[in-house]
Amino acid sequence: MEGQFKDGIAGGRLAPAQYAENFSDLHPPLDHHEALVEADRCYFCYDAPCMQACPTSIDIPMFIRQIATGNPLGSAKTIFDQNILGGMCARVCPTETLCEEACVREAAEGKPVQIGRLQRYATDAAMGAAKQFYARAEPTGRKVAVVGAGPAGLAAAHRLARHGHDVTIFEARPKAGGLNEYGIAAYKSTDDFAQAEIDYVTAIGGIRTENGKALGRDFHLSELTALHDAVFLGMGLAGVNALRADGEEAEGVENAVDFIATLRQARDLTALPVGRRVVVIGGGMTAIDAAVQSKLLGAEEVTVCYRRGQEHMNASEFEQELAASNGVVLRHWLRPRRVIAEDGRAVAIELEYTALKDGRLAGTGETLTLQADQIFKAIGQSFSSSALNGSGPTITLEGGRIKVDAEGRTSLPGVWAGGDCIFGGDDLTVSAVAQGRDAAESINRALA
Ligand SMILES: Cc1cc2nc3c(=O)[nH]c(=O)nc-3n(C[C@H](O)[C@H](O)[C@H](O)COP(=O)(O)OP(=O)(O)OC[C@H]3O[C@@H](n4cnc5c(N)ncnc54)[C@H](O)[C@@H]3O)c2cc1C
Ligand code: SF4
Repeated sequence: MEGQFKDGIAGGRLAPAQYAENFSDLHPPLDHHEALVEADRCYFCYDAPCMQACPTSIDIPMFIRQIATGNPLGSAKTIFDQNILGGMCARVCPTETLCEEACVREAAEGKPVQIGRLQRYATDAAMGAAKQFYARAEPTGRKVAVVGAGPAGLAAAHRLARHGHDVTIFEARPKAGGLNEYGIAAYKSTDDFAQAEIDYVTAIGGIRTENGKALGRDFHLSELTALHDAVFLGMGLAGVNALRADGEEAEGVENAVDFIATLRQARDLTALPVGRRVVVIGGGMTAIDAAVQSKLLGAEEVTVCYRRGQEHMNASEFEQELAASNGVVLRHWLRPRRVIAEDGRAVAIELEYTALKDGRLAGTGETLTLQADQIFKAIGQSFSSSALNGSGPTITLEGGRIKVDAEGRTSLPGVWAGGDCIFGGDDLTVSAVAQGRDAAESINRALA
């Protein structure tokens, strides 16, 4: 156990068996009996508010009724009809701010029907049985390029393949899945579920994936549009915002998303280095995930510093509680000012207290210094529009992301977009799925 108290960034802070326990399933699956009992709690509401709160509009009362009547495969089909990545969404959706927040049993007794866990029960049953519900329509001979194999791209590809179009996904990374594979916290997606889901989704046929092929680096958009009947852009957010603190180039200051990607790809967590004292700057899901996983890797002290109040944090109450229950300290009204380094390595961070003055956030001048050998930046990601440059006519952006209309059409004819890379979304897996699916329907109408 002495590894835990080693200064600097080191692996092996915990006893080997502890890692497996720490990174096990956050919400273990319901067994058959538990699922029936939980399904029985549903009132099968008319005009169900849970369904209206779901970005993919899954018919929740219907799928719960199918579980209750002993038809989990029918239930899975109800889910997949709207959301082909219903298995991942069952694991990662912040249900406490979506369907379960809207559930009438939440309002009545503060205990919603566990919709997420029931969704997992049904989708696991279908995927476990390798049950496929959809066949491809007659081939149309139309070719569609999808850029990015994240949730948006995969949902679009599946729906396009169902309509009989030939889909090629171009993915910059060595593996498909987007943030399902490289970003979601390890304890939300265990046992290589992201890859299992990709295999399940692409089993429909008509979808070819080219990994290691990046738009803007290996080909231009003008080439894609010339060679395909339509293009869908689901590129997510590749950029990370800077801290804007002096000394942030010091060793030990890292992007939280890079750290999480390394963790998700690590075959041996015991060897994965983590700091003894970790400070995470940010207030969203990424900040919480980086903090909790640092703690689970054996960091002794982990502090999340957010520049506004607890009520302003993007991370849900559940996520905040998860962090606190894992021993992460959440501090508010603090912004980074200076990374303090020795021999080029971070040893502490100086933060300034903040306050709202006339509705605007301002530093108070008062500072606080926290010891830190590892500092994670989790202050938001940004869209890298450079991949679109050199592509002939430029796509119109809004707020730094791709501007689309209600059907997901960009300003360039024949080019659609969805997921995190478009303006106006909420940066959730389930919303990316909805946008990919809806853009695919729009493409299908345009190709008819
Ligand atoms: C750390 C972290 C944790 C999160 N946790 C949750 C969670 O628990 N629940 C939740 O609902 N949401 C969560 N989110 C948000 C969620 O992951 C995203 O909203 C979702 O993945 C967006 O899907 P997407 O398909 O738009 O983009 P992505 O998942 O980012 O996929 C985009 C894909 O495009 C590829 N790409 C990028 N540029 C190019 C290019 N030029 N050429 C070819 N391919 C390219 C990328 O490699 C990637 O595979 C989290 C996000 C982060 C960062
Ligand atoms: S709101 Fe709750 S009780 Fe009503 S249908 Fe949805 S899950 Fe069932």
